[in-house]
Amino acid sequence: MDQPLNFLEEIIENDLANGTHKSILTRFPPEPNGYLHIGHAKSICLNFGLGLKYGGKTNLRFDDTNPVKEDTEYVESIMEDIKWLGFNWAGVYYTSDYFTQLYEWAVLLIKKGLAYVDDQSLEEIRANRGTVTQPGKNSPWRDRSIEENLDLFERMKAGEFPDGAKVLRAKIDMAHPNMQFRDPIMYRILHASHHRTGDRWCIYPMYDYAHGQSDSIEHITHSICTLEFDIHRPLYDWFIEKLEIFPSHQYEFARLNINYTVMSKRKLLQLVKEGHVSGWDDPRMPTICGFRRRGYTPESIKAFCERIGVAKRDNIIDYSLLEFSLREDLNKRAQRRMAVLDPVKVVIDNYPEGQTELLRAVNNPENESDGFREVPFGRELYIEREDFMEVAPKKYFRMAIGQEVRLRYAYFVTAQSVEKDADGNITCIHCTYDPATRGGDAPDGRKVKGTIHWVSAQHAVEAEVRLFDRLFAVEAPDDCPEGKTFLDNLNPDSLKVMNHCKLEPALLNVEPDKTSWPDGIARYQFERMGYFCVDKDSTPDHLVFNRTSTLKDSWKKNA
Ligand code: ATP
Ligand code: MG
Repeated sequence: MDQPLNFLEEIIENDLANGTHKSILTRFPPEPNGYLHIGHAKSICLNFGLGLKYGGKTNLRFDDTNPVKEDTEYVESIMEDIKWLGFNWAGVYYTSDYFTQLYEWAVLLIKKGLAYVDDQSLEEIRANRGTVTQPGKNSPWRDRSIEENLDLFERMKAGEFPDGAKVLRAKIDMAHPNMQFRDPIMYRILHASHHRTGDRWCIYPMYDYAHGQSDSIEHITHSICTLEFDIHRPLYDWFIEKLEIFPSHQYEFARLNINYTVMSKRKLLQLVKEGHVSGWDDPRMPTICGFRRRGYTPESIKAFCERIGVAKRDNIIDYSLLEFSLREDLNKRAQRRMAVLDPVKVVIDNYPEGQTELLRAVNNPENESDGFREVPFGRELYIEREDFMEVAPKKYFRMAIGQEVRLRYAYFVTAQSVEKDADGNITCIHCTYDPATRGGDAPDGRKVKGTIHWVSAQHAVEAEVRLFDRLFAVEAPDDCPEGKTFLDNLNPDSLKVMNHCKLEPALLNVEPDKTSWPDGIARYQFERMGYFCVDKDSTPDHLVFNRTSTLKDSWKKNA
């Protein structure tokens, strides 16, 4: 059965059916003041997805009206992230390209008696705005003549006044029940260098004055934004109506919230600046580049966004849903390898010294065409320290003295004795093997309950492996008691570095297969340990892998 249409698809199908629009044009309008996060991915998938679904197009527009916080570094990262997700924009635009047009329209509104220059300070403006229950007070400068307004506005632009000395406001209604209509500010003075327009401008338009007009200039048909902008919509329409320009329309959907993380760019920037993470692309960050470095695939993020749908009411999505989408994708596509993260040595005493053999291992049981590889086996191996106990408690089916287990793809072995160091730590496990069980099955049909992974000591490749846990220790890091901040909710154990991991030699050559991984990031399943990818810090002399996720959901409550 087809999925039911979401409310935006319904609107668009109606608009196309009744001829309101012949084709649709959406836009994704990030402010280049930070890196994109998973919430933006939702908006990207929605805007570009609708464009694709209805044979329309999607623009990328940098909403760059605040020179103080914006930078070309962010512009570049945003483009990279959108491309990585697999979307193509019809055109790249910048609100700053429209500064001249926006200025001319502001002059037009002044001429229509619909805008005025106000000398009040921002504090006075705020104080006189009233409240939801009380009307605001008219500014003493509200009734300036059109000539005086034109003159002052031009001088604002010419740089005659310092920051904050004047603003341009729309002249609407200081008693309006919608606070947005109480003479909203259109322009403020800001003597700051802009990353694109340099020092050409010292007045900058406010969001409400710039956004709708920019949509209109581009002939955006459906301007989709998050719910908190619904109270701005009447003002969006007001400017378009008064300027008599292309009628773009705004529609709102619920923003994506995920538990155990924060998503405001301001907070993400703080995490980076204060060194709580290694950068915007730290694999624990909820940024798109963080997820990329962590090993997430674009497909898994898109599947996640599809799965959560488009809501009209705010909600919080469980992080594990994102991991579910990831595992579903990687399970199908990631080849299996063996890697021992916390190694302990095993010697098979009855295995001929100096002998090695190559054992056939399935690359991916989910994808036959991935075929097989050969894994070297020898007398000395590594296994996971946690896969051995001297005395097996009930239900412990891994290796223990006297307990037979299967070494994956290899043989049945039985531990016989251990060597320990002076502190009592096990340094070596001595085993025997049954040569008749080659390949992993006993000809006499006897069974073992445990199968463990291993790596041949002689052939092992060393690597650093980084294990991650959630960045925040609590579900809602933004909720904190008086005197605390979201930083107090950081999880102190979110990064664990394993330094002497032993990998099977096939992992030495981690050149990614570009048909499987077009983004150049090689991803694997390390059997029993999770999904892993090669980190950008990795070099041929020092391999570094990130754990993208465990194989099972370790986040489930009470797990
Ligand atoms: P933040 O509040 O994190 O700083 P923002 O909304 O200021 O984000 P913008 O760069 O203005 O960031 O956002 C670009 C687009 O992405 C906007 O249309 C915005 O509505 C959308 N967007 C931002 N955060 C989310 C989210 N959590 N879920 C869905 N869409 C989002
Ligand atoms: Mg914003």
